[in-house]
Amino acid sequence: MPDRAQAEPKPFFWIPLKGQPQRTTPPGHERFQGLSGRMELEIEVISDYLYVGSGQLALHPVQGQEQAYYVFSRRNGILIIPGTSLKGAIRAIVEAISNSCVRIVARGELMRSKPHQGCEYKEEGKGLCPACRLFGTTGYRGRVHFTDAMPVGNIGTEIIKIADLWPPRQIQGRKFYQNKTFRKLDLRPAKNHRFLEAVPKGTRFQTTLFFENLQEEELGLLMRALGLDQHPEDPQRVIFAFPVKMGGAKPRCLGGVRFIPKRIRMLQGGLALFPALLTDESSSEVKPLLVQFLARKELLDPEAWARFRREAQPKNEPCPREVY
Ligand SMILES: [Zn+2]
Repeated sequence: MPDRAQAEPKPFFWIPLKGQPQRTTPPGHERFQGLSGRMELEIEVISDYLYVGSGQLALHPVQGQEQAYYVFSRRNGILIIPGTSLKGAIRAIVEAISNSCVRIVARGELMRSKPHQGCEYKEEGKGLCPACRLFGTTGYRGRVHFTDAMPVGNIGTEIIKIADLWPPRQIQGRKFYQNKTFRKLDLRPAKNHRFLEAVPKGTRFQTTLFFENLQEEELGLLMRALGLDQHPEDPQRVIFAFPVKMGGAKPRCLGGVRFIPKRIRMLQGGLALFPALLTDESSSEVKPLLVQFLARKELLDPEAWARFRREAQPKNEPCPREVY
């Protein structure tokens, strides 16, 4: 354990790469087979803050001085979590718990395991790993999409200060951040620090997850990547297994959210899939479907899943404040 010498434990964990992804031919898009529908999800911020950036800076007076800060993502002036951010966060977990190829790599990091290099889709080719079959890759459109998440009720932002981030240099597999407590810094401008516009704990958003032509075991994988699981003693109960991390400043323990399924609408095979999905008609009861999907574990790597579940649990520990 090379970490032991350091005063502050690091806020991330690794899921090691092993063996090779099980690649199979994905279904085509030309006809309906399997399960299609949409799921409405509420997203609740359960870490102290969530910051999803747009890359833009703005100015804000902090203690009498104009201070540049990174703004939260917006569309037409409304705070949103872009669907692409949701997809990226969920895909990273699907990749880890299904031993898929590695697509979601942090900036400046290199993926060295040959068997886990990104799948390439060729018409009659080698097939795709579970994550590429679900989310797509060059030449193959994914079968899972999230809409931009919109605020539920009135939500507000706060300006917070964090120390600059230093990514780990050594890659030991797939890296995920833990859920620990944010340590607030005073708002005085300081070297090697930055300001972010973030939404606080308790803020809620809503999104819709569209899926087409999925197998039950693929939905089982997807539900687990949303942080859901069967109760260990009673498989008929659905529990929140861990918060999903998303957005920026994850190493500062921002970005833990909980996905709460509100409604599911399953669609029987048919031609007018998309128009039908957009109309607001009867939806199925959520829990029995979740139980049904979570019972399917064929695509799950049990070892990676056990490790992920354990490490992603909220830890009642403070997040490192400074460089680590
Ligand atoms: Zn792949």
